Amino acid sequence: MTTVAVLGATGSIGSQTLEVIRAEPDRFQISALAAWSSAELLVAQAKEFRPEAIAIGRPELLDQIKNEVPAGIEVLVGAAAYEELAMRADVVVNGIVGFAGLGVTLAALSSGRRLALANKESLIAAGPLVQPLRSTPGAELIPVDSEHCALHQCLRSSDPEGQARHLHQLVLTASGGPFRGLNSAELDQVTVEEALTHPTWAMGPKITVDSSTLMNKGLEVIEAHELFGVDYKKIEVVVHPQSIVHSMATFTDGTTIAQLSEPDMRLPIAYALAYPERISTSFGSIDWGKTQSLQFEPPDRKTFRCLDLAYSAGNAGGTAPAWMNGANEAAVDAFLNGHISWPEIAASIENALEQHDGANADSVEAIVRADRRGRECVATRLTKRGR
Ligand code: MG
Repeated sequence: MTTVAVLGATGSIGSQTLEVIRAEPDRFQISALAAWSSAELLVAQAKEFRPEAIAIGRPELLDQIKNEVPAGIEVLVGAAAYEELAMRADVVVNGIVGFAGLGVTLAALSSGRRLALANKESLIAAGPLVQPLRSTPGAELIPVDSEHCALHQCLRSSDPEGQARHLHQLVLTASGGPFRGLNSAELDQVTVEEALTHPTWAMGPKITVDSSTLMNKGLEVIEAHELFGVDYKKIEVVVHPQSIVHSMATFTDGTTIAQLSEPDMRLPIAYALAYPERISTSFGSIDWGKTQSLQFEPPDRKTFRCLDLAYSAGNAGGTAPAWMNGANEAAVDAFLNGHISWPEIAASIENALEQHDGANADSVEAIVRADRRGRECVATRLTKRGR
């Protein structure tokens, strides 16, 4: 029996993780659940899965939770409690949204756990701090991102340990998001509602907006670099609107290995929980009896500028990815709250990156500072414009 802690239990990744565990009760057991503010759902999950402990992020919800949760379940509170729970399971699912997930990533790896990482931002912003923790005895980092789950499998076709041997390039696929094919004039007019309508994946709002700008793919390029140790020159992006091929590895002899399934996050979640085994419940299997076509095209890098902004932050290294990620989170927030238009997301991030101070990523403080400075650049730009 594998014990699992789900942090960010009430979000999109968290609830799909629970679906996987519900389907495989003989294999997995929930030991801990944590949510930031969705108290009612967290209590319902605790009643169903009976973990040893749960945590709620917002202190004002503690009394409510304590009153409703079954006796015998320990109730913790605050961000530090997340890190505490991340040390108590065989597998830690980090499904927290954004930079706030950093503490859990560091805690899980430094305590020698398997980290099933859906919180790509923590790896992207803090790569230089996360990397050495991966060699902690017992620690293991398995991505819960469909593209990187695909690459994790593709790379193992050439090397049992998943080293990038004989690799020509990694090819990350991108759906292109809801605005694929639109020109700049059309993109000036798009609404929040349109940005939140993803053509193939149902996800939380932050990542859905990131998909519309291609920043999600940019972040995933940095994520692939950090996870697999592959140079940016060897990471390519191709638009594939059907989201069936989740990514590919091309080797030096010309072979390309791809991983295919219907878009269903429960598959990469289950893969990360069970690896090197595979679960017996099928999620996202393709019906090969029906006619379908798969399409590939190069991304429109001029219109969707976030992709190249991410490459340049990745190549700059140090705290540049943290700075950019902070700026992106602030810009997406401003867009979702109606303060800036969609094209201003990329413009805000570019402006923030121009102000990056070149600092090294040698401590948690340096990373946190870069994240904050990135956000401040976006806020200052907004204030200057009188909004
Ligand atoms: Mg992805």
